Amino acid sequence: MFEVEDPATLDTIALVSDGGAAEARSAVDAAAAALAEWSATPARVRSEVLRRAFELMVADIENLAGIIAWENGKSLADARAEVTYAAEFFRWFAEETVRTDGEYGAAPAGGARTIVTHRPVGVAALVTPWNFPAAMATRKIGPALAAGCTVVLKPARETPLTALAVVRLLQEAGVPDGVVNLVPTTSSAVVVTTWLEDPRVRKISFTGSTAVGRTLLKQAADRVVNASMELGGNAPFVVTEDADVSAAVAGAMVAKFRNGGQACTAANRFYVHADVAEEFVARFGAAVEALRVRPPFADDCEVGPLVGAKAVADVRGLVAEAVASGARVAHQGSVPDVGHFYAPTVLTDVTPDAAILREEIFGPVAPVVVWRTEADLLTWVNGTPYGLAAYVYAGDLGRGLRLGEAIEAGMVGVNRGVVSDPSAPFGGVKESGLGREGARAGLREFQETQYLSVDWS
Ligand code: NAD
Repeated sequence: MFEVEDPATLDTIALVSDGGAAEARSAVDAAAAALAEWSATPARVRSEVLRRAFELMVADIENLAGIIAWENGKSLADARAEVTYAAEFFRWFAEETVRTDGEYGAAPAGGARTIVTHRPVGVAALVTPWNFPAAMATRKIGPALAAGCTVVLKPARETPLTALAVVRLLQEAGVPDGVVNLVPTTSSAVVVTTWLEDPRVRKISFTGSTAVGRTLLKQAADRVVNASMELGGNAPFVVTEDADVSAAVAGAMVAKFRNGGQACTAANRFYVHADVAEEFVARFGAAVEALRVRPPFADDCEVGPLVGAKAVADVRGLVAEAVASGARVAHQGSVPDVGHFYAPTVLTDVTPDAAILREEIFGPVAPVVVWRTEADLLTWVNGTPYGLAAYVYAGDLGRGLRLGEAIEAGMVGVNRGVVSDPSAPFGGVKESGLGREGARAGLREFQETQYLSVDWS
């Protein structure tokens, strides 16, 4: 058994079974045994199971949001938004399940006809992080089940209770035994290695840090396991001199402080044109100082605690280093005495090569850099191994789109502070990942292409 901590009170809120190699293997036994029947289940039937899961999840929003807020620490409002977003993956993939399209062609040389189909890849191992414990699970389970795969799921050590609640709901929705198998654990490497070494596992879908993703890709290489990787980000937030500053501040508040900054898509670095920098920092700073940082269940909570003590220490370290190299704490909010809180902060005078601009902050800190030329801007923005999300606020939409295309990122919000959308292909370039989740592309990650070459002449 292991303890799950409430990051706001530091109390233990539950004891959860601690899986090891034996549990990991029996999860694969169950998934492998259920595969043939589930993949042969008519698409309409699988679709309706996912649709029921969507409906049950929406109906249970208060309970699920409470569990997320309790173990993760995000505000109840953010937790409710996560449940809505998470449920949408069940609805979207319920709709995609029945679009069983393929291709048909005739060989140019004559004779053969080619029939192309998409088949389930097989038993899929899903590994999820703590920052969106419901949505990162449904974004994988939805397309896996839509494709006809069965799954083994390892949630983050910090947030197993949300995953348990989602799996129970899937059972209630009619998912047969063995199709979705959950292994909570404190021994992540043991469980996931067991899966990657098992020849019955044909897919790894991982969301988490680039460091762990790299390790899993190396392990997956041994058996050439099909891999999808949603990894870390370092999103730039660009404001041009002709941008609507009020809209940019509103977008910045969402892009930075949703989930207390603990999002892979969180704006990590702010590049503001010199002509509007003073106005932007003043307005943004005022909004940041007014943020209500509270325990997640407080009525007026806008930002909750970070997930744990290490998260706070990491953010503190990055800010101390930036300040030591010349950055200034221009604006800072306040926080409760108890709990893993960090005060929302705006840093100015940050030099373009500061460590806080290179590493994922994963907390409520906004470093602001002033830019004057587009050449400098693009050098700084693209000078990172990451390429997940980016944001551009520009008055001239054409300019916003041109800058968006010039930024090396899988997703760019133009005059928007949120990019996530179940119908859009979520994912990164460079070291931010491989593959896409959501949209049609998310289903393809759990399918393999086969063609039949047929001669009926
Ligand atoms: P993490 O990489 O530490 O953990 C992610 C998952 O991997 C957890 O379930 C963890 O228990 C497991 N894990 C850790 N070490 C492992 C190992 N050696 N072998 C197998 N599994 C292991 O990341 P985190 O701290 O939970 O999450 C934050 C990170 O996730 C950030 O970098 C963030 O950007 C990223 N993230 C990315 C996306 C995306 O879609 N690209 C979404 C959310 C979070």
